[in-house]
Amino acid sequence: MHRPVSAIPQSHPHARAFPPGKVYLIGAGPGDVDLLTLKAARLIEQAEVVLVDDLVGADVLALCPAARVIAVGKRGGARSTSQHFIDRLLVREARAGRRVVRLKGGDVSLFGRAAEEIAALQAAAIDFEVVPGVTAGLAAAAAAQCSLTHRQHAHGVAFITAQGSDGVDVAWPALAAVARDALTLVVYMAVARVTALRESLLAGGLPGHTPVLAVENASRPDQRIVATHLAAMADDFAARRLLSPAVLLIGGAMKAYANPVLAAAAAAEATG
Ligand code: SAH
Repeated sequence: MHRPVSAIPQSHPHARAFPPGKVYLIGAGPGDVDLLTLKAARLIEQAEVVLVDDLVGADVLALCPAARVIAVGKRGGARSTSQHFIDRLLVREARAGRRVVRLKGGDVSLFGRAAEEIAALQAAAIDFEVVPGVTAGLAAAAAAQCSLTHRQHAHGVAFITAQGSDGVDVAWPALAAVARDALTLVVYMAVARVTALRESLLAGGLPGHTPVLAVENASRPDQRIVATHLAAMADDFAARRLLSPAVLLIGGAMKAYANPVLAAAAAAEATG
């Protein structure tokens, strides 16, 4: 039977009635829902489909109770979702005309595979926008009440992963050399690699007494700070059972007794 154009279902490939979809790549912050930007919160509330990483908490997802939430994380015992699958899903959902939110822990631009997703969206000519978030390293500095660029100790900050990729090792000797005088190192994904990290930094010339802070679950109710120094960090983290997710803040700017939070952490550690 011949049907009028208006009767073509919206899902029909030739229907033009719905607006084209859009993808928002959003940094969900380190955990505390209050650290979402207002823009992120508004977009999450309006989302129809949400693709979410493991590190994004339930509080954040509570903002979009009606959305279809798809977990695409790489942890938690489930089989990891391939990046290629995620890229295709983003494109497919946007092409279907939906408002798609891709939520990542912390900030989008740090260790979140944003480059692959951006390339896939560009290649498919999908409209998209990137919304920044508070990265874990900055939440860790806030937790410790430290300045990462304390004027007497550091002129800058490096955000580094302890996990090289595709056989490319991190340039630890060069980083150690700069960190010795003027750079605070903020190291992600380090918990399983602290022994190797310690060796690399010591070999690169960073003194063993360099202060190190580990902040586990920064900004969450179970947040924990372990204050130590480079030479002792592997043993201290093992003794305190440091778990992922944690970031390490390494450098003179972290001098342990410069602030009351660190003094309290050190005192608590001393009394067991
Ligand atoms: N894009 C994220 C980083 C993802 S990589 C960001 O900007 O924060 C995952 C690593 O982030 C973890 O291994 C850990 O090092 C760090 N991380 C994420 N959330 C954290 C948190 N709440 N507290 C401490 N470290 C965290």
